[in-house]
Amino acid sequence: MKVIGLTGGIGSGKSTFCELMAEHGIATVDTDQISRQVVAPNSAGLAQVVKEFGVEILNSDDSLNRAALREKIFADPLDQSARQKLEMILHPLIQAETQKQIQDYQQDESYQAPYLLVAIPLLVEGILKKGHKPDYVDEIWVLDCSEETQIQRASQRDGVNLENIKNILEHQASREQRQSYADKIIHNDGDLAKLNQQIKRFFSPTKAKSH
Ligand code: ATP
Repeated sequence: MKVIGLTGGIGSGKSTFCELMAEHGIATVDTDQISRQVVAPNSAGLAQVVKEFGVEILNSDDSLNRAALREKIFADPLDQSARQKLEMILHPLIQAETQKQIQDYQQDESYQAPYLLVAIPLLVEGILKKGHKPDYVDEIWVLDCSEETQIQRASQRDGVNLENIKNILEHQASREQRQSYADKIIHNDGDLAKLNQQIKRFFSPTKAKSH
């Protein structure tokens, strides 16, 4: 089983791709979901984040207000320190849980699929910072589309304001940087049928059946 680090910028189609791959029996370890899990209400992770950023990043039910936190992180585009502090709290927690979930699949004899996807939105940013990919990733697959498509899809999906999306885009790796680390590029400027066509190719039999 190959462990695939799946990445792509905001709104590039990572979740959509994983859903389509699930129809072929391919599971996903979702690091976005893990990043929420490690700051769930009453978690040690959330307590650390509140200590750093204040109670105003909590909703009234004590869950994390991600929009409020994001505003703090991206408030000043030139100041990376808040983002770095957050990463220093969250990364070790996310890393440990991600590795645990991958191991669970590796040890699960009922999981016989050729791939396990590990969706890591900031995979390339991490490589640029550390100089190497995570040990547990065998290949890097990149969801790729134009920035216009990213902005259009992300804003339609979330109703996030355009400035915020552009701000996030500026802080993410460029399209070219992602492409340069890709073992496979999945093109997602087209419709869902086009995306599906590429996926089917991963599973098309190498030999045609002879009758
Ligand atoms: P993020 O990192 O921001 O969470 P993502 O990379 O997981 O985003 P998706 O949520 O899969 O991206 O896609 C963004 C939006 O674009 C969704 O509303 C999704 O339904 C839509 N979308 C993705 N791919 C396509 C496509 N090929 N055709 C039409 N809509 C698409």
